[in-house]
Amino acid sequence: MPLTADDHRRLQSLREHLAEATEVLAGYPIARDFDIQALAPFLDFPLNNLGDPGVPSTYRIGTQAFEREVVDFMAAHFRAPGGGAWGYVTHGGSEANLHALYLARERFPDGVLYASEASHYSIVKSARILGLPLVRVRAQPHGEIDYGHLEACLRRNRHRPALLVANIGTTMTEARDDAGAMLWACRALGIERRHLHSDAALCGAYAPFLTPRPSFDFEDGAGSVAVSGHKFFGSPIPCGVMVARKDLVDAVAAEVGYTGSVDTTLTGSRNGFTPLVLWHALRTWGVEGLRARAMHALDTAAYAVDRLRGAGIPAWRNENALTVVFPAPDGRVRAKWQLATQDASHLIVMPGLERHHVDALVEDLVRSPVPVGA
Ligand SMILES: *Cc1c(COP(=O)(O)O)cnc(C)c1O
Repeated sequence: MPLTADDHRRLQSLREHLAEATEVLAGYPIARDFDIQALAPFLDFPLNNLGDPGVPSTYRIGTQAFEREVVDFMAAHFRAPGGGAWGYVTHGGSEANLHALYLARERFPDGVLYASEASHYSIVKSARILGLPLVRVRAQPHGEIDYGHLEACLRRNRHRPALLVANIGTTMTEARDDAGAMLWACRALGIERRHLHSDAALCGAYAPFLTPRPSFDFEDGAGSVAVSGHKFFGSPIPCGVMVARKDLVDAVAAEVGYTGSVDTTLTGSRNGFTPLVLWHALRTWGVEGLRARAMHALDTAAYAVDRLRGAGIPAWRNENALTVVFPAPDGRVRAKWQLATQDASHLIVMPGLERHHVDALVEDLVRSPVPVGA
């Protein structure tokens, strides 16, 4: 049965709504400057990257070769030792976090998980799913983990392995925990059995371009890194990448007779389209293009702080952050600009958010009733 005229009208009005809402997206870390029309022909196939990206399955309608290139790029981006990394394209940063913590728990079943109060909710949920005891470490006012409190928490459990989460860009203020300092705290207490996971869902794409370079990757001591694909890179479909030390995954690999592949990933059927989207982004931007996008976004974030302050709004941002924090405005402005709000609101300058968007937002803020708080 073909779609009715009414169905077409509904789709058309959805399209208009989406175009309108995308134009006034300011509160979520979502790039909107992607153009993947070249990939449209691949929507004609039942793509499924079933199984391990490196082990062929009897199901051959997939994009694993492109997925492996994406993972190889991320492994190099996160300075993994040559040939020593394994990873796959996930359904987002949350799945990447869950899988990484799963590997960490298999490595240290009696481990204790440490994550700051500013960690993403997927970390808390992962701990619950995996049955891992979670110690919430205090965060400093601007969102970075409180190292003194981390040390005190570690000391209390020094006989147990430490599974550490470093937030590389917290959700509300884009604060970055120092992975090196967190590992140092373990070393100082003689905790030899330790695994550090970098939740770089937000900043992993551009952290390597920042000066000073955040301490978060494999050379800094991480055993696994998660990054979202639909945030800075840009994708019409949520996705992410997880990369881990190869020896960790060998411990969980189980062969599945009928698919021919190895069951190393969290789900069975896996998206075969998003690896193409990420591959397309990496091929079209290249490392230098990604760096330029990051620098442009930083410049726009600095502009946003200046504009907001110029309008009498006490805005601030962490060093080299694309997230600009300011007091929660009137509900109508929050709704229009899709401002995620928890105590304060924030504007996140992802690629595609330009100065004219900032100007329009500031204009709405200035015109709106006096801020009433969250
Ligand atoms: C966005 C984000 C996540 C979750 O990623 P999804 O891709 O939305 O699943 C996890 N951690 C941090 C720090 C994030 O910013």
